[in-house]
Amino acid sequence: MLKYYGSSVLVVVWVGGSGAMEIREPLRTTQLDPKFKFEVAQMPGGESIKYCFQCGKCTATCPIRRFEPAYKPTHIVRATLLGLRETVLTSNIIWLCASCYSCTERCPQGVRLTDVMRAIRNLAVKEGHVHPFYRMQGSAIATLGRIFKEDEFINEMRAGMGLLPIPSVNREEISTILRDIEVNKILTIEKEGE
Ligand code: SF4
Ligand code: SF4
Repeated sequence: MLKYYGSSVLVVVWVGGSGAMEIREPLRTTQLDPKFKFEVAQMPGGESIKYCFQCGKCTATCPIRRFEPAYKPTHIVRATLLGLRETVLTSNIIWLCASCYSCTERCPQGVRLTDVMRAIRNLAVKEGHVHPFYRMQGSAIATLGRIFKEDEFINEMRAGMGLLPIPSVNREEISTILRDIEVNKILTIEKEGE
């Protein structure tokens, strides 16, 4: 809902219901970044964002929403179109998308929302807003070569199920690859001992 207060102040009363993308207090137009939607649209995958007409079908379809009511892709798109740059890019909620493509399949406007969500996250990463969980996973891969530490207990359990032990990985090689493609820099990973 948009309301007009005075001659120069546009107030956004609502862009979302409950949850992390909730904005209830009035916002001045000076708080909005009109270029934000273009920035997202210029990212690979973000091109279709401006076709959204807020029907809500993506939110109704989204399987993540069934488990996390605060996750409303419709509102993330709305906030992006409005220019709520900081709110969107620093929000933890944008990281919940499971890239399942259900919304993309059903969007009547042809918004490729799965790709748009990825574009938004890539922009967030570019600006240093990486969800702590992904930082943790990236750090584990850089240090251990995988996202968890294998130990005897895991291999004993696998043996009990008739599975082979977890194969070893070349940690140095993985670490070098991550460094070469600058993932370390993006995630500001600090390898143990460095
Ligand atoms: S289904 Fe498409 S048009 Fe409808 S709100 Fe979602 S992105 Fe926008
Ligand atoms: S791609 Fe993401 S936003 Fe779309 S339905 Fe799947 S989890 Fe929800």
